[in-house]
Amino acid sequence: MMDARPDVRLIDTGYLRPGFAACYLLRAGGEVALVDAGHGRGVSRILQALEEEGVAPEAVRWLVVTHVHLDHAGGAGSLLRALPRATLVAHPRGAPHLVDPGRLVAGARAVYGEERFEALHGEVVPAPAERVRQASEGTCLPLGEVELRILDTPGHARHHLCVHVPALEAVFTGDTFGLAYPELAGPQGPLLFPTTSPVQFDPEALVASIGRLATLGARRAWLTHFGAVEDPASRAAALQALVREHARLALEVAAAHPPGPQRLAALEERLRGLLLAELRRAGCPLPLEEALARMTDDLALNAQGLAVWLERREGGRR
Ligand SMILES: [Zn+2]
Repeated sequence: MMDARPDVRLIDTGYLRPGFAACYLLRAGGEVALVDAGHGRGVSRILQALEEEGVAPEAVRWLVVTHVHLDHAGGAGSLLRALPRATLVAHPRGAPHLVDPGRLVAGARAVYGEERFEALHGEVVPAPAERVRQASEGTCLPLGEVELRILDTPGHARHHLCVHVPALEAVFTGDTFGLAYPELAGPQGPLLFPTTSPVQFDPEALVASIGRLATLGARRAWLTHFGAVEDPASRAAALQALVREHARLALEVAAAHPPGPQRLAALEERLRGLLLAELRRAGCPLPLEEALARMTDDLALNAQGLAVWLERREGGRR
């Protein structure tokens, strides 16, 4: 007999706070895939969720990371140790950094500082090269009787891919389709906000990738941060507009402030204003100060990513 439709379980990796970062367990025809690997200190939660679901470690065939930022991929090497038959799948630009995570770790230490890095991430275990497969546009990964189709989706990072599962009418979007925390959702649904983290944010590429996701016919997007967004096509244009607005306000700030702490502070201030307007528009049920506090880290990362983008542009003009 054919298996029932494949199913999806959201696993909260416990990064920063409950409801902040997810990874996904997909099951089809007795085989299992994980999309995203969480951070280094989230591995035990993922293994516990597998156990709760009655999934033997040997049943996990694919561990796909959407990109190699450490809240998505920091746990990959440790997970491979625990999942003996799993193949780690990553974008060709990201895969080498999973085998040799030195640069990733150094980059994250620079963003978070030594102490916070240690508390958040702990050890980042290198992945054995022979267990890593590079996946690019069009790669199909079989899982039971269904297929996971890999899409190359640059913009948040050049090493970003998304996973389209036509049998589920779903797409796993990593950070490409932005952030949507359930507690900030208003009557019209989730509040979607782009993520422009350092160091490869590219607004035009991100707008194009969001547009691409809208054409898949997916009924549901699963975001790493955090959970499901229904009918993503209907939300794409507004998200694209917010990405463009990030770029526009960054250029305005750059015209007034040279690179440095004042520029960064001005970027954060402008982003805070943008988010506040979105919270009001969406009818966020939380008090606005509390809602803003939930996204303090995201705003800081977005500002840092915009600052890096501006400096790259300015460097290009010299
Ligand atoms: Zn990211």
